[in-house]
Amino acid sequence: MKEFDYIIIGGGCAGLSLAYELEIHKKLRDKTLAIIEPREEYTRDKTWSFWKVTDHNFEDCVKKSWKNFSINIPGKTNYLECNNYPYQSVDSGLFYKKINTKLNENKNIVFFKNLNEIDTKNSFIFNSVPSIKKDYQKFWQHFCGIEIECQNNFFDDEIFNLMDFDCDQRDSVHFFYTLPYSKNKALIETTWLSKLNDNSQKDYDNQIKNYIKYKLNLKNYKITYKEEGAIPLFFPLNKNEKNKINIGTAGGMTRLSTGYTFLNIQEHSKYIRENIENISNIKKYKISGKYQFLDEIFLRVLEKNPEKMSSIFFKMFKASPKNVIKFLSNKSNFLEDLSIILKMPKFTFIKALFY
Ligand SMILES: Cc1cc2nc3c(=O)[nH]c(=O)nc-3n(C[C@H](O)[C@H](O)[C@H](O)COP(=O)(O)OP(=O)(O)OC[C@H]3O[C@@H](n4cnc5c(N)ncnc54)[C@H](O)[C@@H]3O)c2cc1C
Repeated sequence: MKEFDYIIIGGGCAGLSLAYELEIHKKLRDKTLAIIEPREEYTRDKTWSFWKVTDHNFEDCVKKSWKNFSINIPGKTNYLECNNYPYQSVDSGLFYKKINTKLNENKNIVFFKNLNEIDTKNSFIFNSVPSIKKDYQKFWQHFCGIEIECQNNFFDDEIFNLMDFDCDQRDSVHFFYTLPYSKNKALIETTWLSKLNDNSQKDYDNQIKNYIKYKLNLKNYKITYKEEGAIPLFFPLNKNEKNKINIGTAGGMTRLSTGYTFLNIQEHSKYIRENIENISNIKKYKISGKYQFLDEIFLRVLEKNPEKMSSIFFKMFKASPKNVIKFLSNKSNFLEDLSIILKMPKFTFIKALFY
């Protein structure tokens, strides 16, 4: 069986981002790489959105960028700016196409469907397949979104809606998220933060249909795309072993308070590429411990006080959108953290420290 210098298990967001980063920096000229990916073909299956706090390799896959956003709770709307860190949406279809076209140019990179097809014993492995026990005590962000198109101009495409909490909460945390790509096209997503075993929240199609009809007051449209998913708001059980690094969700690249992962994956890929010559000896790349600590408290507050979360998010952004964006993107300094912490309901958060 054939041997490779590097193996990437899982050719999804993290696996392909890493392969691309290595390839464009010419790290695979004299090295061989096997990518293990079971899917039959690459088609658009996700929309990755994030505040652009750092440069990345996929500017040409950005479907749309916004500099304004809003948050709603019943009876109140907050209009906010993100001029310094525009919010971007990457189309996974364009991302897969761009990367696969580039990787196909290099004969040293080979795709396989199954790890059994190659000899792994002398390779360095990057694994992006998360090991997740069906642990019903943990929180997930689960959601479903549809992209719709209407005949007439309907949306204001200069501003996206990050969270609209003015909807049925069912003793949980629920909001709608709307990304208007143009005046007649938008992605509308219903999102829940809850324990995934709760099937009572998964009537997604109805939730979205009613939101569009009664909240947006839009009657005629067609659905052009649908995506559904669940992001674990806990770290998977994958361990780093000798000659193996976990990447992506499996590598702890998700912010537990928000599910944002895409830009962390890009920064991790860069870190690996910069250190690839000494890969067996590098320090593990992690989201800073302060965010892990604060996210943990945030999730405890969420568990005990789901009914308070909408006003907590609303107040948090009111402080300073710029600071909050930096905080949620792991780029805030101590004073910026403090400005956010001081806006939180103190008693609720202090109590959560001792649960
Ligand atoms: C629908 C959806 C929307 C999201 N939106 C956002 C967003 O807007 N912003 C954001 O920051 N994050 C978002 N995320 C979170 C995160 O960015 C994505 O989940 C991202 O795809 C994680 O990358 P990954 O490589 O870890 O996992 P994946 O992209 O899921 O890649 C894992 C790959 O492993 C393959 N695989 C599975 N089993 C095996 C096996 N046994 N052997 C080999 N390969 C295997 C899969 O086919 C897949 O291609 C979203 C997640 C989902 C599900």
